[in-house]
Amino acid sequence: MRALLSKAYRVSSDIAAWGSAGFPLSAMREQRLAICAQCPQYQARRRTCSVCGCFMPVKASIATSSCPEDRWSNLTTAEPGAYQKHCDC
Ligand code: SF4
Repeated sequence: MRALLSKAYRVSSDIAAWGSAGFPLSAMREQRLAICAQCPQYQARRRTCSVCGCFMPVKASIATSSCPEDRWSNLTTAEPGAYQKHCDC
């Protein structure tokens, strides 16, 4: 129960941070997913991360999200501003 509440809190904080930034989508989604696919923490059958518990096809799309083991950091530093603002139309 404690783990579930902790995860719910983390997800709600992540969504709040994403909303504060204007819901930007990541331009690095496919690169992030490629890193996840090679990661020992990735659970391919469920497409989730065993560290954060997130569903990676969604998390990788969220520009403000980050890898809990900092495995995506080279992507974000290599391409600053690598996310696209969510369409407002
Ligand atoms: S988010 Fe990070 S730790 Fe989790 S599966 Fe992807 S690369 Fe691995």
